[in-house]
Amino acid sequence: MADKERGAAVDIRAVTKTYGTFTALDDVSLRIEPGQFMTFLGPSGSGKTTTLNVIAGFTDLTAGEIQIGERSVGNLPAHKRNVGVVFQHYALFPHMTVAANVAYPLKLRRVPQAERNRRVAETLEMVRLTDFAHRHPAELSGGQQQRVALARAMVFDPPLLLMDEPLGALDKKLREWLQLEIKRIHRELGTTFVYVTHDQEEALALSDRIAVFNKGRIEQVGSGRDLYDRPETLFVGRFIGESTVLRGPHELRGGETALRIGEDWVSHPGQPVGSGRQALLVRPEKISLLRPGAVTEDGLNTLPGLISEAIYLGSGVKYEVTLTDGSRAVARVPLTDEPFALGESVIVVWQKQDARLLPDDGSSEAAQSGEEQ
Ligand code: ATP
Repeated sequence: MADKERGAAVDIRAVTKTYGTFTALDDVSLRIEPGQFMTFLGPSGSGKTTTLNVIAGFTDLTAGEIQIGERSVGNLPAHKRNVGVVFQHYALFPHMTVAANVAYPLKLRRVPQAERNRRVAETLEMVRLTDFAHRHPAELSGGQQQRVALARAMVFDPPLLLMDEPLGALDKKLREWLQLEIKRIHRELGTTFVYVTHDQEEALALSDRIAVFNKGRIEQVGSGRDLYDRPETLFVGRFIGESTVLRGPHELRGGETALRIGEDWVSHPGQPVGSGRQALLVRPEKISLLRPGAVTEDGLNTLPGLISEAIYLGSGVKYEVTLTDGSRAVARVPLTDEPFALGESVIVVWQKQDARLLPDDGSSEAAQSGEEQ
C-alpha cells in the first residue's frame, strides 16, 4: 500500500558546487515532497548527477544546504543518510548470490538473521526475482541485474531512493518494461524517488514532477504536462517533446506581437516577453497542413513551405516542412487518402493562441544534446 508518510521530503537550498573555477551547480534550490517521483532531466553535463550526489552525500557542497526529512544532512556522511542508491552500472558483488547481495545492507545494519531473510524474500518478490535468489550476478541478464540493484537499494526501507540513469545500459524494450516496474514499485512503496535521466520520454513516463537542468541551473520544475504545454523558456520547450521554433524580427501590432519569418509575418496575441529577441514555439499536433489555395479562416497563422520529410507513424504521419527562411516546421497529422509528397508545396497553419511566445535564449539542437557545454 502506498503510504506517503513513508517518503521523506528533500529540500535543496541555494546549493552551489564548484570544481576549481568551474561551476557545476549554480545556486540550485528545489523542494521534493514526501512520496513524490521527481526526475532530474537535462543534457549531458547539466548538473543532474552532481545534484543527486550532493543529496546522497557522495559529493560535498561548496555552498548551500540539504535537508532530508526536515533534518539537515550537511555534516552526515553518505552511509548515515539512510538513502538507497541505484546506479547505471549495477555494482553488484559478483561472488555473492542474489539473496546475499540484497541482504548486504541489512547485514551492515545488524538486522537479525530471521528478519533479514524475511525482508530479502519480500523485496525479491517485489522485483519479481524470487526464483533467482540463489544465482550469481553473472548468471543474470542486464535487466535482472538492475532489478537486484533496485532490491538492494530498497531492502532496508529507506524513505528516499536515488537512481542515476538506472536503465541507461539496457535496450529500448527492456527499458520500457522496467519503467513500468519502477512506477509500480514507487506506487507500492510510497517512498520518495529521485531519478536522473537525459531521456525526456522516460521522464514523462515516470515522473510526478520533472526538474529541467541546463548548465548547472534548474530552468523549470513542473509536471510533464506543464512543461509540454507551458514551457517558461525556449530551452525547456525544445527539450520536452517536439516543436517548431520560429525566430525573426518582431514588432507590436494592435496588441499582438508580429514576427517576420522570411517574407511572411505571423502573430501571437499579447506583448513580447521581456525586452530581447522573441521566438514562437508550436507543438506538432497544433499544426495542420493545407495545399496552396485552400481557404483559411481569420485568426490563423499561415506560412508557405516545402515538404522535406514524411515519416509514417502508424497512427498518423509526421511531416517536416522547410520554410522560406530555411527553418523547419514539424506537423503530426492524421493519415489521409491524399498524403503529401516530398517536395510538395504546402501551407503550414496554426491557431494564433496555440503557440507559445518566449524569449529567444539562442538554444539550439547542439545545446539540447549537451554538445555546447
Ligand atoms: P550526464 O548526463 O552526462 O551524466 P550530468 O547532467 O549528470 O551529465 P554532472 O555529472 O552533474 O552532469 O556534471 C556537471 C558538470 O560538472 C560537468 O560539466 C562535469 O564535467 C563537471 N564535473 C563533474 N564532476 C567533476 C569533478 N570531479 N571535477 C571536475 N568537474 C566535474
